[in-house]
Amino acid sequence: MRGRISEIFESIQGEGILVGVRQLFIRFCGCNLDCYYCDTLKDSEFCFDHVSGEKIQNPISAEYVQRRIDSAKVHSVSLTGGEPLLQAEFIRALNKTRPFYLESNMSIPEKAKKLRFVDFVAGDLKVREAKLFDFEILLENTFKSFKILRKTRTRRTFCKIVLPSVFNEEEIINSSLQIKDYVECFVLQPVFGSRLENIFKLQQKMLEFADTRVIPQVHKFMGVR
Ligand code: SF4
Repeated sequence: MRGRISEIFESIQGEGILVGVRQLFIRFCGCNLDCYYCDTLKDSEFCFDHVSGEKIQNPISAEYVQRRIDSAKVHSVSLTGGEPLLQAEFIRALNKTRPFYLESNMSIPEKAKKLRFVDFVAGDLKVREAKLFDFEILLENTFKSFKILRKTRTRRTFCKIVLPSVFNEEEIINSSLQIKDYVECFVLQPVFGSRLENIFKLQQKMLEFADTRVIPQVHKFMGVR
């Protein structure tokens, strides 16, 4: 089995409920969405392995990635992107010798069904924006994916909402109500540099039905990958 991966590296988790833990990051190429704040490569001819210093032609083998996972002294392995669900079959081919932490846009429920074995899910609830076509379909698929990958005794699932300074508060609350029973908490993540006033107001309202935290991207403050 082979997968398209843009880079492999070790760093701290900079977002969400596990902020600060050390992880091995497997960054998959490709995404089915096109968010305006996206800062990741859509495809790459090579996989840059920053752990070994190697540059490998894509697609790369599951055996290669497995060796990285087995030798990493980390809290967990972050499967990130791009959108890792697009390569769910490749992820299934890996042995979970470290806990798996899935970072997903939660837009492909049929692929989410294949990854029920992961230990952590950092799932997105997207805010409506011009670049996201068929937003209603995206929301329906998001609700389905959270239901499939909901929190259990062995899986910690939380919902991340990336927020600009201005957003539709009512719409976010209505969507969050559809998800609240499936997640441990919500994380409101300001777009880097945006004003926080409206985000704190939203937090107050969401606290009426769920644990809701405001956590920025810590790795950006620290200037690390
Ligand atoms: S879902 Fe993530 S990877 Fe995909 S376009 Fe949006 S920010 Fe980029």
